[in-house]
Amino acid sequence: MDKIRLTTISIILMLTIIVLAIFFWIANTSGQFQLQQLPGSTEEQDILYPGGTHTQEYPTSAVQLQTETSPPTPDPTGTTASTPTETPTPTPTLAFSGQEVIGYSVLERPLEVYRFGTGEHVHLIVAGIHGGYEWNTVELAYELIELLENEPERVPSDKTLYILPNLNPDGYAKDKGYDGRANANNVDLNRNWDHNWQIDWARSGCWNYRPITGGEYAESEPEVRALKTFILEREVQALISYHSQMAAIFSGNFPFHPPSEDLANKLWAVSSYSYPPPDYGCHYTGQFVDWAADQGIAALDVELRNHVDNDYTINVPILDAFLAWSYPEMVD
Ligand SMILES: [Zn+2]
Repeated sequence: MDKIRLTTISIILMLTIIVLAIFFWIANTSGQFQLQQLPGSTEEQDILYPGGTHTQEYPTSAVQLQTETSPPTPDPTGTTASTPTETPTPTPTLAFSGQEVIGYSVLERPLEVYRFGTGEHVHLIVAGIHGGYEWNTVELAYELIELLENEPERVPSDKTLYILPNLNPDGYAKDKGYDGRANANNVDLNRNWDHNWQIDWARSGCWNYRPITGGEYAESEPEVRALKTFILEREVQALISYHSQMAAIFSGNFPFHPPSEDLANKLWAVSSYSYPPPDYGCHYTGQFVDWAADQGIAALDVELRNHVDNDYTINVPILDAFLAWSYPEMVD
């Protein structure tokens, strides 16, 4: 009698275990078990908030944003649901270097920016604002990018450096001479900024090989608008805009912006370029670095020596000094 009872209990226990096993297998396979317990939960959220319990201590908006970009996916193995705390991952950090498109030219060419470093103080180098006419500045920018890819330790830990190697890809593609200076709307991208902007200007002492304009209005050009948005969003503190061929450094909104002058003096000290620059009497309008200085950014034009050489060996020390420079107000 005891033997029969023991066998019956054993069979009932085995059946119960089998039924329970089937239930959990189905629940994990379909993902319902996860969703019932953690509405909107995804594997990515577990990584984003290691050790988190998905309670109100995390902002709802962040969870919703993550859900929008990464819809929940069934986990066929069920390992994530059963062992959520066994794979804690550190909070995601920015990669040391990266690349992004910040906008497009008139002819839909991408404006590419390269980033180096993750520091809180943001510096920027822009080349090719005058397109193919100053093609050697674009070549220099790509050589500096290659240098930093090979020697990332040149970027101090407190700095992030962005390099935009070609702000005027349409002009660059059109001609390696006078006709490559303006963009595809025949606008000089260094006369289109919202600082003393004019559609036309007195040409005395100024570049005057083609009848180009400052645009229909300030910031009318997509290249200028894209760069302006990028600079303000990333809170750029210092920038160099490369040109050729005056072998000189121009300080933004001179003489009304001392931080730009301070940066100019630091770069002049390690270079063979002249500062202050020669004055040919041109009354500049709508210039990029003057607008930038208006925003409080230390901003310089750096002019290479000619339209052929990229002046790489001159500009490596300039790059290092630019990266080492800190905004005067931050120095104790
Ligand atoms: Zn130029």
